[in-house]
Amino acid sequence: MIRLLLFIVALMFVVRAEPVATVDASVPQERRKLIALTFDDVPRFRGAFMTPTERGERLIATLKDKGVDQVAFFLNPGQMTEFGDTRGAGQRIRDYVAAGHVIANHSNTHPHLSGTSAEAYLANIDAAEAWLSKQPGHRPWFRFPYLDEGGKDLAKRDAIRAGLKARGLMNGYVTVDGSDWNMEQLAIEALKAGKKIDMAALRDLYVETHVQSADFTDALAVRALGRSPAHVLLLHETDMAALFLGDLIDALRADGWEIISADGAYSDPIARAEPNVPSSNGTRIEALAWEKGITGKRWYDRNEMEIANPLFRERVLHEGAGQ
Ligand SMILES: [Zn+2]
Repeated sequence: MIRLLLFIVALMFVVRAEPVATVDASVPQERRKLIALTFDDVPRFRGAFMTPTERGERLIATLKDKGVDQVAFFLNPGQMTEFGDTRGAGQRIRDYVAAGHVIANHSNTHPHLSGTSAEAYLANIDAAEAWLSKQPGHRPWFRFPYLDEGGKDLAKRDAIRAGLKARGLMNGYVTVDGSDWNMEQLAIEALKAGKKIDMAALRDLYVETHVQSADFTDALAVRALGRSPAHVLLLHETDMAALFLGDLIDALRADGWEIISADGAYSDPIARAEPNVPSSNGTRIEALAWEKGITGKRWYDRNEMEIANPLFRERVLHEGAGQ
């Protein structure tokens, strides 16, 4: 009896003495939740709380502080003059790259594919790539503005797919979307209207929305693919990100997510998929689930403004949920 007890105690000691990293590595690959962070619309227009320069400095400092080595910024080089601040968007972009992050193509002027011819759209991509390809930290990825891959116009979709391939560009898809741009816009409008913003509530809503969206997509991915792929979170270069990115990173990690590089995420096999569905605004997981005939909702519900906007009014502005 005593020998058995000693054996158990010894066993406990062995288990407890295991370094954390070893325990982590024993988790099967398909059970790990991996996610990369990406930021669209660089350089984005001014938000409600700070200048674009302050915003960029905060983003860089937060990523460094939280040990996130590489995120991707998707650029619209054609917006650089329009939205450049006193220090210049070009400098901000150089600062992102100098901090170890990478940059890629989000078109020159952010057109909607559904409202643009394939030729004009590819020319818009080329104009951005002409600038981007000369920059350090450049990656051959193209992110569709509005995530619009052509919708029902499959001939146009295929023309763009062929055009991207001919240019050596990969679709820089996302898998997780929380419509952060809308929260940013609601904050700008609230401040303009002289309303008081509950900043702690805004932080909580921003963080909760993105963590929930990540978990929603991951569950959908497991249903559609039978595994958890490396995810790509869509964010924008917003004041929301500059204010709350550190909280979001902490919350994702507390929820079991491991933040990985954009390079790492895009090495997942789903990067090579070409889902044959008329996608006009969704994530890659949504398209893959659609293609597989997965029933039920394939998008996180707070990407619907009818759901997101009353939540913002109620929780952040402390107004009634109704309009
Ligand atoms: Zn965009």
